[in-house]
Order: sequence, then C-alpha cells, then structure tokens
Amino acid sequence: WCVMPQLGTRLYLAIDAGPIYDDAGKLVAVVETLRDITAQKTAQDELQRLATRDGLTSVANRRSFDDMLNMEWRRASRESRALSLLMVDVDFFKRFNDTYGHQGGDECLRQVAAAMSGVVKRASDAVARYGGEEFAILLPATEPDGALIVAERIRAAVTALRLPHSGSEVADHVTVSIGVASIQVTGNGVPSSLVAAADAALYRAKHTGRNRVVQAGKTA
Ligand code: GH3
Ligand code: MG
Ligand code: MG
Repeated sequence: WCVMPQLGTRLYLAIDAGPIYDDAGKLVAVVETLRDITAQKTAQDELQRLATRDGLTSVANRRSFDDMLNMEWRRASRESRALSLLMVDVDFFKRFNDTYGHQGGDECLRQVAAAMSGVVKRASDAVARYGGEEFAILLPATEPDGALIVAERIRAAVTALRLPHSGSEVADHVTVSIGVASIQVTGNGVPSSLVAAADAALYRAKHTGRNRVVQAGKTA
C-alpha cells in the first residue's frame, strides 16, 4: 500500500524493476514500472472475506474455524501450550423462531455473535459460527481457568443483551449454554477430540438446566 498525499488516497502498487548493464557488465540503470493494482487487491480482499466469514453474523465461518483449529493445534503442539475451546448454543432457539419469526431469529444471532466478539480480546482468539445457532470460540494459549472465565463473561454478555424470549423455560430473555474444553497438546491426539470434549460438556450444560457453563475434565 502506498499513501498518495496529493491524491488524498492510497494505492496498492506492484513494482517491477529490471537492471540494465553496459557491455562491461556494469550496472548503468534500473527500469522501474509501477502498476496500480488497487482494484484487483480490493476484489481479492473481498473474495477472501466472503470465503472466510459467515454471511449472517460476519464472524468466522465453519471452514475458517476448521482451518484455525488445525493451525492452532499444531502451534500448541510446537510450543507445548494449552488450547481451549468453547461451544456456545442458544437456548430454546427453535421456540425463539416460532415466536419472533425467522428474521427475528436472524437478528438475534447477529446480536449474540456481536456480543461474543466484544468479549474476546486477544488477537489470536476467534469467534466462529459453527452451524445454525451454535458458535465455537477458540482460545489459543489459554489454560482451563482462563477459558472458564471467558465462558462466564460470554454468558453474561448475552444475558446483558436482554433480548426478550417468552418461549424460553429458563429465563424471560435469550440465554446460552456453553461447553468448555481445554487440552495440553502432546503430539498425540487429533483436533477433533477437542471439539468432541467441548460438545460433550455443552450436552451436559443443556441437560443440567441450560443457561450455564460446564467444563470438560482436562484431556490429554
Ligand atoms: P436447545 O435449548 O436444546 O438448544 O433447543 P433449541 O431449540 O435451541 O435447539 P434445536 O437444535 O432444536 O433448534 C435449533 C433451531 O435453530 C432450529 C432452527 O430453526 C434454528 N436455526 C438454525 N439456524 C438458523 C438461522 O440461521 N436463522 C434462524 N432464524 N434460525 C436458525
Ligand atoms: Mg439451541
Ligand atoms: Mg443447537
């Protein structure tokens, strides 16, 4: 990117440079060509965004989450660091749609996603739409205690939206259940085991009353 003070804009420039030598092989000049590829770059960035972001909520999409999980798993293994995952599911969301309509449901998902994105602060943390009304939050270099704190903050942030939900059996507003799993990557195991552990914890959160956080036992 090059800032163009006179134009008051910035351009994405590709620079090609070719040396010119005299008969003795001495460098006498360099020919430089500047090409303005701003339009291509902007289109490329937009394609990248479309491919990696969820269309409804603008958080990372499932494909992007799978890529990040694999990448962070390898990094955690290299650096012998913990890796934590939260699986977040909206409570009684089918009834929310039934009561407020599909568009109301979509707006709810947008707000829940934005609230969660506001909670996670580290650059490497990632909020993703895992599917339907289920979100995954990847927390690299985060121990179980830290993951639990983030999960409780997420739950509190969604509660604080105070989105009315008359069909819910656990509150008069929208709530989420969260499963938390952390792993110390040892070289054995596969990334999907972390998802399975968080999913099992989420299942327990649902079956012990919803609107709560359940943490999986530490796995190896
Ligand atoms: P639980 O508390 O056990 O999670 O119950 P639930 O009703 O949330 O769970 P269930 O999986 O039965 O229902 C999920 C519903 O989410 C079903 C579907 O209608 C709705 N849903 C999934 N994706 C979208 C979406 O993109 N927009 C809207 N509006 N609704 C969606
Ligand atoms: Mg649900
Ligand atoms: Mg669900």
